[in-house]
Amino acid sequence: MKRKIAIVPGSFDPITYGHIDIIKRSAELFDEVIVAILVNPDKKYLFSLDERVEMINETIKEIPNVKVDSFSGLLVNYAKQVGSNVIVRGLRAVSDFEYEMQLTFMNKALDENIETFYMMANKQYSFISSSIVKGVSGFGADLSKFVPEYVEERLEKKMKERG
Ligand code: ADP
Repeated sequence: MKRKIAIVPGSFDPITYGHIDIIKRSAELFDEVIVAILVNPDKKYLFSLDERVEMINETIKEIPNVKVDSFSGLLVNYAKQVGSNVIVRGLRAVSDFEYEMQLTFMNKALDENIETFYMMANKQYSFISSSIVKGVSGFGADLSKFVPEYVEERLEKKMKERG
């Protein structure tokens, strides 16, 4: 039988426990999961692509059916390239919904074979976003509820470097 590959796309700048929850749950449901980092040249990221890949690799190293990759351009093209037609996204709040609906309709219009699945965020992580975690980092606060220890260390270091 054909292996079912799911793509979990995003910026992961940096990866948080919210992302990790969605990745782990996807890994239970699909044969293979690709965490696909979107490289958008118009967007400014705190962490370089290599740093984000490294942090994700550290996170997923014990889950055998998950791997990390990056892509630029259209997600539907990337999906075709890796032999997948499944996108998994997380939904945190009603505020995510409108944007996600647009994204789903757009991807469907670009490729009608693409299916997007949404997972409700785990309640305990539903308020976490990379941006909000970045916003509170650099002040020595305990971020251990939001990100793994190595991500927390990277964040603190990065914030110090930036002054
Ligand atoms: P962010 O919005 O934090 O910058 P990304 O662009 O990296 O995140 O998002 C990648 C995917 O992960 C999206 O589907 C997003 O909805 C989901 N996601 C982000 N944070 C969480 C969370 N705390 N719980 C569940 N899903 C999340």
